[in-house]
Amino acid sequence: MAEIVIRNLRKEFGAFTAVKGSSFTIRDGEFFMLLGPSGCGKTTTLRMIAGLELPTSGQILIDGEDVSQRPASQRDIAMVFQMFALYPHLNVRKNISYPLVSQGVPRAQIAAKVAEVARILGIESILDKPVGGLSGGDRQRVALGRAIVRNPKAFMMDEPLGALDAEFRERMAEELRALHDRMGATTVYVTHDQLEAMQMGDKIVVMNHGVVEQFGTPQDIYDHPATLFVADFIGSPAMNFLRFDGVAEAGATRLDLGSFAAAVPELQESARGALVLGVRPEHVSFRDDAACRGRVEAAEYLGTTQIVTLSTAHGPVKARIPSGQVARPGETVGLDFDARTLSVFDGGSGRALR
Ligand code: ATP
Repeated sequence: MAEIVIRNLRKEFGAFTAVKGSSFTIRDGEFFMLLGPSGCGKTTTLRMIAGLELPTSGQILIDGEDVSQRPASQRDIAMVFQMFALYPHLNVRKNISYPLVSQGVPRAQIAAKVAEVARILGIESILDKPVGGLSGGDRQRVALGRAIVRNPKAFMMDEPLGALDAEFRERMAEELRALHDRMGATTVYVTHDQLEAMQMGDKIVVMNHGVVEQFGTPQDIYDHPATLFVADFIGSPAMNFLRFDGVAEAGATRLDLGSFAAAVPELQESARGALVLGVRPEHVSFRDDAACRGRVEAAEYLGTTQIVTLSTAHGPVKARIPSGQVARPGETVGLDFDARTLSVFDGGSGRALR
């Protein structure tokens, strides 16, 4: 078990800077997600924590000890890449035992440890089977077993479910999370899938172009995005953005937006530049007498809810409303916004003002 503290971590590859001074803390026992689009520096960050890559500057502390310049072998961290990387010519027991055998652990101890791991993973009955004939799920469990058996301080996982189809992926994600809850080991998990990060993580770091955009619980990040990038990246469909070129314009449309704008003090300040108001689709509702009008362009049926796309004077808006509610393409409706849940961003810097 381990607490991992990251301080001003930076990684340069020649003239290119992949990680630009990250700082965050991973608490003991947390399931911690590194989330962001391709190339944002997630894998590089994970590899630096594991010791597979040394930082250009900054620090990594594991349980208070500075391990920044230590090799991977001295960090006691297990790296789980793609879970299918097994030794195909060995049976399950031998695959799981392998790390302990290569460390020279006594045989009786290995047998006891393998039995314990097999029990945790529910794979006792396949211990003597060759891995070649196993189902995808069992292969994943065996690969996990090989990481668990060493009893490392922490697990690093780089898109471990990336190669799986959607249904199987969801099942393995649940299993992985349940396993973590039983073992309680600090886990750092890289993904570009915001839904996976939201579902599985205790905490999420959202990265973009080598910079930490935000760090917090899934709910913090969803409800209070710190930047326009985070607001846009998290949530499906994405948050609606209503752009205003200045306070004069925002003031002029205040009535139009009704209670939505009245609850935003930023709109009443005089010296503010361009503003962006953010509202999630589930916080948009139809109300006949609302001043803001929208024309229904399309409706996408999703079972209990539907996503309705509208055009308004402030740009396109998506609303998630009950599927029983009528929304016919071409008709004009009044739109109400839940002011309590509104985000406000500085249009220039992209930083949240509230
Ligand atoms: P992906 O999901 O695509 O792997 P990522 O967020 O994990 O994305 P990284 O793999 O950390 O991104 O890479 C970040 C950037 O650093 C990329 O632009 C990548 O090309 C670059 N990079 C990574 N490793 C090296 C290296 N050894 N030499 C040069 N550039 C590298």
